[in-house]
This record gives sequence, C-alpha cells and structure tokens, in this order.
Amino acid sequence: MSEPCKTFEPKLKFFGTMNGASGSHTNAFFCPDDETIVFLDMSLLNVYAADDLIRMMPNLRHYYMCITHNHYDHVSGIDKLAFDVRLYSPGSSLTIIVDERIREETVMHLETGGLRSLPGHYGGEVYELLSFDSYRSAYTFRDKSGKPLSRMVSPEWFVKTIPTSHSLRLSGASGFALNVDGSLIIYSGDTSQLSPYVEFLRDKIGDEQRNARNDPPIEFYLDVMARKGELHLSFSEVAEDLKCLLTSYPSMKLILMHYDEVGKLKQLIEKLMPASQGWPVYIAKPF
Ligand SMILES: [Zn+2]
Ligand SMILES: [Zn+2]
Repeated sequence: MSEPCKTFEPKLKFFGTMNGASGSHTNAFFCPDDETIVFLDMSLLNVYAADDLIRMMPNLRHYYMCITHNHYDHVSGIDKLAFDVRLYSPGSSLTIIVDERIREETVMHLETGGLRSLPGHYGGEVYELLSFDSYRSAYTFRDKSGKPLSRMVSPEWFVKTIPTSHSLRLSGASGFALNVDGSLIIYSGDTSQLSPYVEFLRDKIGDEQRNARNDPPIEFYLDVMARKGELHLSFSEVAEDLKCLLTSYPSMKLILMHYDEVGKLKQLIEKLMPASQGWPVYIAKPF
C-alpha cells in the first residue's frame, strides 16, 4: 500500500490483486492467530505461494477458505490447496465457507475437481464445507448437503456473507464481513453493485444513532476497474458514492482490488479523489 498515508498496514495480505485476464489474480489471506490461516479465494496462479506460506508457518493447525464465487480466478487452486493442507499438516483439513446461494455449485466444482473423500493415504474427508444461510433472519450454517447444523461452528473472526450480483451465469456471488483484530473488514469479492455493502454498513453500524468516535476501524476492499464493464464496478461510476461513504464513515479505509490497469486507476483516483485532500483510498498490492 502507499499514498496517501504510508503508515497504514492493511489487515489482509494479497497473493495477487488484479482481475482474471491478468497474471495476478485477486486472492488474499489473514491469520487471526498463529495456529489459524484464512484464505479468501485461491486460483491456480497463487496456490504455490500459498503452499510456501503454509510450510513457513509450522504452528498452523486451522485452515479456512472463504469462497466468493466460482470463477476460475477465485477457485481453480482450491482442490490442490486442500490436498496440500493434508500433506503438510497431517490431521488438519481445509474448512471452506460459502454463502448458501453458491453451496451446490461449489460442491459440484470441488468434487468434479477431485475433492472427494478418499480411503488410504489421505484418509476420510479432504475438506469440510459450511454454507452461511443469509436468506433468513436467523442466520444458520449448513453442511455440504444443505442440512442445518445445530452445533456452533462459526469461527470468531466470521461476521457474515454479503450476497451481491456479479455474473448471471453463476448461481451467485458474495462478499464477506469479517472481524480481524477488532477491525471490521468488508471484502466485496467480484461485484457489479456497491449497494449490498452500503446496506450492510447501515445495518451493522446504524444510521441515526451512530457516533463516529465509537465506530470500529473499517477496511473496505472493493472490486473496481479503471475501464467500464458489465460484471464489475468502474471507478468513475462509483467515485461520488464512495466519497459519500467515506464521509459517512470517517473510520473507513478504502482499498481497491481486482483492477485492470493500475496506472489508469491511479490517474482516475487522483482526478476524482485527490490524495492531497486526504481521501483514505489505497490500491491493493501483493505482499
Ligand atoms: Zn475475478
Ligand atoms: Zn468473477
């Protein structure tokens, strides 16, 4: 991360930060503690770097994967990662979390990619899948067959999935709200809409009684392109809405990801939200 504030250290680290047509797919991770790692999507381009990371962290015991949607730049490395977790950390397995809307599609994708329970060397289930059902007000987790789970399975860093619209060819897409070291993290995944995240913030923090001094720090990671496109937000189209959002939530930092052309995006940001005016807008960079 760089301008305008060099001291800002984002909670999420990125393997790559650009879109599916680039050589740097947007996949991220964080470690809530030294035994736990949480990945946000994983493409084949990044899975070898994820393997290296796992090997460098010998205390890891708990492995999570939050999947935003089933495009290849977000899921093509997940089957390999799940097997590698079994290999490098015997006795551990990958717990996958998805929104209920994409549960069936995700299970189909993973199992046709070879992630079935295996006898012998690997033994048993290669992964566990939890789907977060945000349809109903009583949020519940379901297993991979869709059965509601009665036991408490929600990790403490998980807040909720935030369903959004992206591609009509998929059964759905979602962002994630997370709690990392006391900061509220909003990770959009790929999205063609800003409104689900604005609504989430209103619901979560409240509108009228909110007191800016008591707001938690917020990091909002948003899919934004320099060019216009159907499936993604373009910076020019949402800049005024983003200004409103940053004005309403002074504790928020905005981090742009999944972009297409970094040079053009920088020019647009400087034109519409100049760093000299103190807008806390950053462009995600690989770690
Ligand atoms: Zn993508
Ligand atoms: Zn996508």
